[in-house]
Amino acid sequence: MDNYLEGLERAMQKMPATKESKERFVLPSPRVFYEGKTTVLENFMSIADTLNREPDHLMKYLLQELGTAGKIEGQRGIFQGKFSEPAMARHIESYFEEYVVCTECRLPDTHLTKNDRVLMLKCDACGAHRPVRKRKATTTVQKDLIEEGETYELRIESVGNKGDGIAKVDKFLIFVPHAVKGEVVKVKIKKISGTLAFAEIVERVGKAS
Ligand SMILES: [Zn+2]
Repeated sequence: MDNYLEGLERAMQKMPATKESKERFVLPSPRVFYEGKTTVLENFMSIADTLNREPDHLMKYLLQELGTAGKIEGQRGIFQGKFSEPAMARHIESYFEEYVVCTECRLPDTHLTKNDRVLMLKCDACGAHRPVRKRKATTTVQKDLIEEGETYELRIESVGNKGDGIAKVDKFLIFVPHAVKGEVVKVKIKKISGTLAFAEIVERVGKAS
């Protein structure tokens, strides 16, 4: 019996540790910078690759969620307008939840397949399958990009008439008292009025350069 168990243990050790490596799957973080009035998602292709999805599919999703135009350029994704890194990360996360991860076993080893014109997500690891959820209207998603009471890290891009620092995120102009141009601050959104938001500094992250 002992020999049998030892043998079994040895056999287990020899097995490739695929399961373990899958469990360590980490959602890639977007690296974002701005070029003029566009947002560059530097590691777009690498994200699509990690998620094992068609770059065009991911791009189409992001454009729809952000409500903007854009394109893939080499390794990068280019988006019209300015979108923050946290906002981008949130959309990538929702793409992952919707089009990549298996809801049964939480592994990302899945593929998309069409069944009677219904887009299905099929899991290669456990065999589970589910229909992909129907898309929400983009208008309702866009409104939620900035929320009252939430904190965001922002770069102050300009200074308003009354001396408040101003940052732009998506379609929002965010006014931050006591912040200076070029500074990176963590702020809490106090109030949103249309596309204007008013925030207070929680933490000063980086000096103006
Ligand atoms: Zn599964």
